[in-house]
Amino acid sequence: MRKPLMAGNWKMFKTPAETQAFFEKFLPLVEKSTHCEILICPPFVNLAAAAAATAGSGVGVGGQNLYWAPEGAFTGEISAPMLKAAGCRSVIIGHSERRQFFGETDETVAKKTKAALAAGLQPVVCVGEMLDERESGQTNAVLERQFRGGLGSLTPQEFAQVVIAYEPVWAIGTGRTATPEIAADAHKFLREQVRGSFPDSAAGVRILYGGSVKPDNIKGLMAQPDIDGALVGGASLEAISFASIVNF
Ligand code: PEP
Repeated sequence: MRKPLMAGNWKMFKTPAETQAFFEKFLPLVEKSTHCEILICPPFVNLAAAAAATAGSGVGVGGQNLYWAPEGAFTGEISAPMLKAAGCRSVIIGHSERRQFFGETDETVAKKTKAALAAGLQPVVCVGEMLDERESGQTNAVLERQFRGGLGSLTPQEFAQVVIAYEPVWAIGTGRTATPEIAADAHKFLREQVRGSFPDSAAGVRILYGGSVKPDNIKGLMAQPDIDGALVGGASLEAISFASIVNF
């Protein structure tokens, strides 16, 4: 039985004071929400505030990115051991915004995923096609390439720690969510990829859906058998909205 994971990606929003205010409102709303795991990934500068606010609550904190070296002369970067020491449980890797704007590739996704695992962080690895790729019938080829390139070189033991997030790029921040059926097809395809490469993890790996998830569409998505939770951007910034998603 896969326990759903509801993860919030705050992108480049909120200050430490706003982070504290969010959790003051959010935590009482999810106090009894034991049906799923909850994760918030704030900007790096808010990790201390998020870790302090969530201590003892069961709500996890994660990074939005990392660099694969443990330390060194890499100005502006943050390593996996640093995230761990700051109280992170998880880290998002390969988000489409990083692929689009910051040169993330399947190769860097693989390096970052291994670095996260070595530091004891749960990688939430994002895959997903662009609109033109979907429209030209390449969705499965793109997903297969990103899956193999980003995750194919892990050992079965390493892969067992990974969460996959299917995020069609055309649905992120656009208000245009994938229908439950479109999402379900992609999740089924991804689980088949897992079955091919890591058969022991096929039944257990969690595959989240991300792309304009809102309180009013989460129920339909979660009704799909291969959708094991959500990676939520915009709608995770507001406590009542994200709590309604968590408590779908
Ligand atoms: C995301 O940031 O991963 C995301 C899915 O954003 P949104 O929910 O705003 O589409």
